[in-house]
Amino acid sequence: MMHDSLSVLPIAEWGLGLRRPLLIAGPCSAESEEQVMATAKAIAADGKAQVFRAGLWKPRTRPGNFEGEGTEGMRWLQRVKDETGLRTATEVATAQHVEACLKAGIDMLWIGARTTPNPFSVQAIADALRGVDIPVLVKNPINPDLQLWIGALERMHRAGIRKLAAVHRGFSWFERTPYRNSPMWEFPIRLKAAHPELELICDPSHIAGSADRIGNVAQQALDLGFGGLMVEVHNDPVNARSDADQQVTPAAYDAFLEGLIFREAAPTADMRDRLEELRDLIDQLDEEIAQKLGARMDIAERIGDHKREHNVAILQPERWERIMGRQLRLAAHLGLSPAFVREFMDSIHRESIRRQSEPSGEHAAGSPSYADQGRDA
Ligand code: PEP
Ligand code: MN
Repeated sequence: MMHDSLSVLPIAEWGLGLRRPLLIAGPCSAESEEQVMATAKAIAADGKAQVFRAGLWKPRTRPGNFEGEGTEGMRWLQRVKDETGLRTATEVATAQHVEACLKAGIDMLWIGARTTPNPFSVQAIADALRGVDIPVLVKNPINPDLQLWIGALERMHRAGIRKLAAVHRGFSWFERTPYRNSPMWEFPIRLKAAHPELELICDPSHIAGSADRIGNVAQQALDLGFGGLMVEVHNDPVNARSDADQQVTPAAYDAFLEGLIFREAAPTADMRDRLEELRDLIDQLDEEIAQKLGARMDIAERIGDHKREHNVAILQPERWERIMGRQLRLAAHLGLSPAFVREFMDSIHRESIRRQSEPSGEHAAGSPSYADQGRDA
């Protein structure tokens, strides 16, 4: 299949006074005129964010939760624009949402994580945007599927949208991590490798899921060369009607920004910089591979203890066959050669059996177990 190349404009050419790093802040949901105005005025007073975000239509996983104020809240966003000078952005999930936003003069739109995975919805939005010159941000799909993310970006691009960027908000995943949505940095990294001109914006709020963790996530994103941040900021987070745990006050947002190190390195056409950039990505991926291998070996060791307690043989060929089969299927999907995956998995298996064969805590000296290391180190 032929892939579209995404020719997008750099943020500095989006107009509206926008620039890199693109800083977007505002409440998860627009809840009332007072809440919107109080939050926007405080954000504007700090003078750092360029765009005010607020959800008017909230896609809720279960019915019965606060579903947003809808078009009623549109007027509040217009007031924000008129009275604070901040640009405005909201989530759209249908062609009707798009039309309402265009009519009200909303400056920027984003497609949410529950909409990106549905090609019909994304195409309906793209059709409504054909011929319209407005910046659009596409959040990653809620499930870790790079193709769906790229597909949604391509649909926007085919509709003529050139002020386009991707928002990384983490992935819903069964593995327990300290975060609400697993960052799985390899996905935005692979997106960037496929489309180097496309800016990545990080939404640390939905990744972290708690106000005290957004700083770490945002710094990691900046270190990876992300071009902006979208953060949930609420004048009264405790009483927020959605995502209360992860929202921060305007004052805390200001402190959060102060605590971050913004790197200059904007993407450049220069070959040397590009090489450096790609090498940084490789280093980051290698580190993640090492961490995951460490975690895998720790678990193998625990399984070893368990098998020993219950007098079960360490080597269980049927189980290994199943693992290998699954990896080979996955590999075919990812374009990895079967020979490489066999060799790699066999080598992991050998080490795993070695670790299972010795009681925990007795593996190679000088290699502290993954669990012993500070997770944020
Ligand atoms: C949001 O931005 O408030 C939101 C609903 O985000 P996501 O689509 O990433 O879950
Ligand atoms: Mn939210």
